[in-house]
Amino acid sequence: MSLVVMKFGGTSVEDPAAIRRTTEIVAGRVALGKQTVVVVSAMAKVTDLLLRAAATAVQGDRTGALAISSRLRSRHRDTAAALVKNSAAILDLIDSKFDSLDEILRGLAAILELTPRISDLIASYGERVSSQIVVAAFREQGINAAHVDAREVIITDSQFQKAIPQDAAIEKRSQEKLLPLLAAGQVPVMGGFIAANEAGITTTLGRGGSDFTAALIGGALQADSIEIWTDVDGIMSADPRVCPDALRVKVISFEEAAELAYFGAKVLHPATILPAVKKNIPVLVLNSRNAACDGTRIISLPPHCKSPFKSIAVKKKLSIIDVVAGRMLMTHGYMKEIFTVFDKHQCPVDMVSTSEVSVSLTVDSNDKLPAIAADLGQLADVKYEGRKALVCLVGDDIRGHSGMAAKVFNAIRHINIRMISQGASEINMSFMIDEDDADEAVRSLHAAFFQDPDPEIFDVDARKAK
Ligand code: ASP
Ligand code: MG
Repeated sequence: MSLVVMKFGGTSVEDPAAIRRTTEIVAGRVALGKQTVVVVSAMAKVTDLLLRAAATAVQGDRTGALAISSRLRSRHRDTAAALVKNSAAILDLIDSKFDSLDEILRGLAAILELTPRISDLIASYGERVSSQIVVAAFREQGINAAHVDAREVIITDSQFQKAIPQDAAIEKRSQEKLLPLLAAGQVPVMGGFIAANEAGITTTLGRGGSDFTAALIGGALQADSIEIWTDVDGIMSADPRVCPDALRVKVISFEEAAELAYFGAKVLHPATILPAVKKNIPVLVLNSRNAACDGTRIISLPPHCKSPFKSIAVKKKLSIIDVVAGRMLMTHGYMKEIFTVFDKHQCPVDMVSTSEVSVSLTVDSNDKLPAIAADLGQLADVKYEGRKALVCLVGDDIRGHSGMAAKVFNAIRHINIRMISQGASEINMSFMIDEDDADEAVRSLHAAFFQDPDPEIFDVDARKAK
């Protein structure tokens, strides 16, 4: 029998209407006779608010922190009451969770110290409560749902706030906890993002980590597919808000999707892909507000695409740092010294471009830049400039098409390019421009490269229908 892991993000469980849509979608899968595991995020914005409550409490503002918690309690209670007729049990459960959260917030306001471990514990309430409400809502509609505490299945190390999953333990726990439920015809429902170390102390996989949970479970159970239900139709050839002509990409490779994920295509978490790739499990990105749409299928070997590119992604809020070597010229160890500075400030570098005398690097704009520039200034002349954007074209065989660079730069010949990179990856070509030019660049590139899209890869019917 085929097994599917379905993950629903915050907007798919944000209110009673969203949870009803989610319930219908799951009921549809179950009716097809699929074994189904459901992973849910916290209701939209809840994780942010929980962390805000923690930050408020640790400043000594006990009343403020409890007020945030109280609003969250009401929102969850109202949602549950709207979905479940005999709601006494689920409302009690919600109350007991928020009572214990309030205890922690009072403690924080007294000790005034917030550790990563306590932060994870506080953040975990979002998924712990949302998953219980979803179970109650599913049962109300006749789905034989069973709640599973994700912290008993997703075992991690103890790096709080970004814990590393322990694959062997997760495999063992998934088989022990989930397979019997599936065998009994039940639908296990668990929170994403939250996990625990071997000692049972709550950890999290990092913000946006629910997709990762779904992929880990899918990998551990050798699922036939992993479905990521979100609020967009899938991966698009460009951001449709910038480029109304953007097409849905029907099928894309894991590598291409991972490149796009880095650009915050907002569709999925880059690490999501890994457990699925390792086991060769297709990942589908689907829209819970438009369930009839086929979404995007992410697989290891998609059909060859006749168009050179599948998608144009943009990452904004970047800075370029130019390091011009003076006395270090021609000495060895120069690059190492430069990177040591970034390492010291724990600042990841995105793109690097070098010449004999200069090195240009890009980083997310951040408040450490003046200090980084000062340290680099000990080595060489340094300039840095913010408000830059990285535009990235992703496609399966960019190098295989000759003259591609000329075509790309011709399409945006009216735009000033600050830095270029087409390195090891054959699937991505990127360049840096001013942030203000980014939308125009995307529209020009899209017009140049998506005139005649390959119908096997892109949803061209949608364009015809317009
Ligand atoms: N609720 C968590 C967050 O907002 C995890 C997730 O939604 O994927 O980061
Ligand atoms: Mg989320």
